[in-house]
Formats: sequence, C-alpha cells, structure tokens
Amino acid sequence: MSNASYDVIVVGAGNAAMCAALAAREQGAKVLVLERAPYEQRGGNSAYSGGGMRIVHGGVEDIKKVVPDLSAEDIAATDFGVYTAEQYFDDLGRITEYRIDPDLADVLVNRSTDTLEWIRQKGVKFAPMYGAKTFKHEGRYKFSTGSVVAVVGGGRGLIDAEIKAAEKLGITMRYGTRVMSLLNGPDGIEGVRVVVKRVAEDIRARAVVLACGGFEANREWRTRYLGAGWDLAKVRGTRYNTGDGVRMALEVGAQPHGNWSCANACEWDMNAPEYGDIAIGDAYSKHSYYFGIMVNANGERFLDEGADVGNSTYAKYGRIILAQPGQFAWQIFDSKVLHLLRSSYRIKKVTKVTANTIEELAGKLTGVNKEQAIKTINEYNAAVKKDVVFHPNQKDGRGTVGLTMPKSNWANTLDTPPYEAYGVTCGITFTYGGPKITPKAEVVDVEDQPIPGLYAAGEMVGGIFYFNIPGGCGLMNGAVFGRTAGENAAQFAQSGR
Ligand SMILES: Cc1cc2nc3c(=O)[nH]c(=O)nc-3n(C[C@H](O)[C@H](O)[C@H](O)COP(=O)(O)OP(=O)(O)OC[C@H]3O[C@@H](n4cnc5c(N)ncnc54)[C@H](O)[C@@H]3O)c2cc1C
Repeated sequence: MSNASYDVIVVGAGNAAMCAALAAREQGAKVLVLERAPYEQRGGNSAYSGGGMRIVHGGVEDIKKVVPDLSAEDIAATDFGVYTAEQYFDDLGRITEYRIDPDLADVLVNRSTDTLEWIRQKGVKFAPMYGAKTFKHEGRYKFSTGSVVAVVGGGRGLIDAEIKAAEKLGITMRYGTRVMSLLNGPDGIEGVRVVVKRVAEDIRARAVVLACGGFEANREWRTRYLGAGWDLAKVRGTRYNTGDGVRMALEVGAQPHGNWSCANACEWDMNAPEYGDIAIGDAYSKHSYYFGIMVNANGERFLDEGADVGNSTYAKYGRIILAQPGQFAWQIFDSKVLHLLRSSYRIKKVTKVTANTIEELAGKLTGVNKEQAIKTINEYNAAVKKDVVFHPNQKDGRGTVGLTMPKSNWANTLDTPPYEAYGVTCGITFTYGGPKITPKAEVVDVEDQPIPGLYAAGEMVGGIFYFNIPGGCGLMNGAVFGRTAGENAAQFAQSGR
C-alpha cells in the first residue's frame, strides 16, 4: 500500500497500546497512537490500576533485576518465594476453569519476566507490593505467587513513563481522537476512520493494532452480554472503553471468542462515582474482605470470604455482591485485623462506620436487617476453629465448623472493639469476551485465518480470561500481547503484502 501515512496505527493509549507502539517503533516502524480520551484522561484502565504485574520468577535475584534499589533490610525481611512457569500456567488454568487458550497462556507465562524487564528499561520503576500481597507477620514478609511487584506511582506512573518513552522515540500521539472503524481493502486492513470533534478523517497505515479495551463502560452492552443487573454496576476505571475495538474487529469478520457473559468485577466502595476517579485510582477497591466477613441486606453471609487467597477471589466476588438484594454488602472487621487492611481502607472518600459493640455496629449498617446481622455474627463467632493458628500470608486453615456458608481460612472471631464496617458494591473492571487472536496477536476470522494487517491486544481480546483472573495478569496480559502485537505488526508492515 503506497499511500500509507504510517506503518502501524495503534488504537488506544493504555498499557497494551503503549507496549505495542514501543515494540513497533523498536522494529523501525513509523507509529501513530490514537487515543479517544483527552490528554488529561489518557491511559485507559491501565492508568487507574494498582500497577501490580504477575511474573515467573526464581526468587530474590530475579526480583532484584526489576527492583535494582531493593534495600538490604527488605531482602532480609522478605521471603519472595519462587513462582515457576508451571505454577503460573496451573494458576491460569485453575482460575479460568481450564478454559484459557493454552497457546495464549503459554505466551503470557513465558514472556512475562522478559517483558517486565523490557518495560523497566523503558523507564518504568517497580517496588515490592508490601501491605497488599504480603503483611509483616512475626517480623517477616512472605510472598506466595508471582504477584510480587507493582509500578511505583501505580497505573498513572506506568502510563506516564510509557508515553514519555514513546515521545522520546518519535512516536506520534493524538488525543481526543476516537477510532470508529477499520478501512478494509482487498488485501486486508489499510487504516482507520476517526472522528475528531464530530469530523471524520481517514488515516492510512500498513497495519493496525487494536488495544482499546473491552465494553465494561457500555451499560447497554453490559446488560446485553453479562445479563440483568449489570447496568447497575459501577465502572472502576475509564469511561472510554465502550467496546469500539471489539465492534470494529467483528465488523471486518473477526471471530468472537472467549467468555462474553462474564467480567472481572470487584468489591468497590458503594458510594464511588459511576466511573473511576483518576485522583483516587484503585483506592475505592476494598479487597481485604478475607480478614473479616461480609453481610448482605438480609444480614446474612453469602460467600466464603476465605475460600482462597484474595488474589484468586477478588475479581469474581464483585458479581456475587451485584446479585445481592440492593446490590450491596458490608465488610465487617474487629480491631485484631485492622492493621492488615490495605491502605485503600484509609482514604477520606470511604463508606465506613465504627462502633464499640456488635449491636451498635449492626444498627449502623445502612439497609441491613439488624437482628439477623447480630445473629449471623454470633453464629459465625461460635463456629470459628479457635485452636488453629491465624497466619495472614498463607491459607491458614483457620476456618469455621458447621455453618451453611463456611469461611475456609482467616476466620477470626469478631469480638474485640472497636469494630469497623465498610459498605461495598460491584465495581466492574473489564469484560472477557472479544476477538480471537493467534499467539502472534493476529486477529483471526471464523476460519481461524489471520485478517491481514490486523492485530489486537489487552483486555479487549477474547479467550484468555474466563470466570476469573489471577491478580496481576490484566496488566501483564496487555504488556506481553501488546509487545507481541507491535513487533508482528511492524514486521508485517515492513514486509509488504
Ligand atoms: C481500578 C483498577 C485497578 C486495576 N489494578 C490492576 C492491577 O493492579 N494489576 C493488573 O494486572 N490489572 C489491574 N487492573 C486491570 C488492568 O488495568 C487492565 O486489565 C489493563 O489495564 C487493560 O489494559 P488495556 O491496555 O487493554 O486497556 P486500557 O488500559 O483500558 O486502554 C484502552 C485504551 O483504549 C482507548 N480507547 C477506547 N476506545 C477507543 C477508540 N474508539 N478509539 C481510540 N481509543 C480508544 C481508551 O481511552 C484507553 O486509552 C485494574 C483495573 C482497574 C480499573
């Protein structure tokens, strides 16, 4: 295609898009990034995220490679554990109920460590996730998965560093530019049609990478695909991920793939705004529920708060909260565990009540049947296996006996004031259904044939996450497949058709 203005157009400016742009540029491609959001709201969900990324690692020596300034005190006080490729693969399988496309899982796992190091070289800084994934217990920290490090400055820090690197490398960035459709020629994709301030414009390129998010911010599509009640969920991140990329891919014949009827959805402050607030970022999250209990409007527990490590349950419990009467729940803790709650519980904009007795607390839980809540707490307290030792950093087996709804780990009695309770609802993070891709991030049609010139990456791709997601995989998925898409799109663009 001789009249192409660019080798590669990347749609979106989140983590997947920026990794695609950087990787394409490294191959020598002329790259244009088109971001729907205005400059101040650039970076999609990635900018709202906590910045945690899951990698394969062999312990402290590998962690030092991505956190070169790790202090001697931190090293002495921390058991970083080991997280093998086999463990990563097994976790992806178990948590997605063995639905994940194994070839894509293979790429995600085996490019994770190297891609994190590649991002670091672009100027992104990492630090261990103390206080979120591990807690100081008897003087030591202990990590148990590959979710060990997060970006310094969280998601905003990640996006700012990636965009800075892109600008330095001569990648052109355009904001406030919504891509509406793909230009589809006889030999494949030839560019995009954008709308800027209601005016349409065609931009030609040899290859296009779609990395423009799922449909979580589209209330109508949520209801259509996820089902009744999903129109009432709050959006944890950007308002701009309304499914444009998914729609554009399907319009040119991409194969719909993955888990269209499910989404990543978490425990989120019940009074949070309808969409994410970039000044608050991830801090409306309330992910420490496994140290306490949750009750619904009926005053009843409705899930096993300690079924697994929080990293393996947080992204599926939001939809269970959404299914409760009034779509809310209260998380209840006593003073024995307050020091273990994440820093997000300490922000100013929080729905919180405190009390010195259970009766007083139950009366303050707006919308909850007080008498039943007291009964639930008393029954729970009586059922706790008090002879099993509590351990915050591992599944401790300190569960309950005889309850219809058990709590399997971290079951501490609620008996030591002051008590605290936090009101939560369902916050949707991202959707799981989207176009199918190959391990080279090529978008394929219904016959599994690549659509020439079209690549996709990040949360808009189908076939990776089903039902649930291991914590730290959203960003890693975007980084690995963004990078893969960028490399292959650049090579395609340069090879001619
Ligand atoms: C509050 C919160 C906390 C999270 N914490 C973590 C975490 O700690 N670890 C983790 O792994 N994951 C986390 N996630 C999930 C993670 O952020 C996402 O999975 C990941 O960022 C998705 O990256 P992406 O690049 O695919 O999409 P996004 O980052 O959402 O980027 C999509 C981009 O496309 C743009 N766009 C949309 N439509 C168009 C269009 N028509 N034209 C042009 N541009 C368009 C958007 O503006 C945006 O820039 C979190 C998410 C949220 C919301």
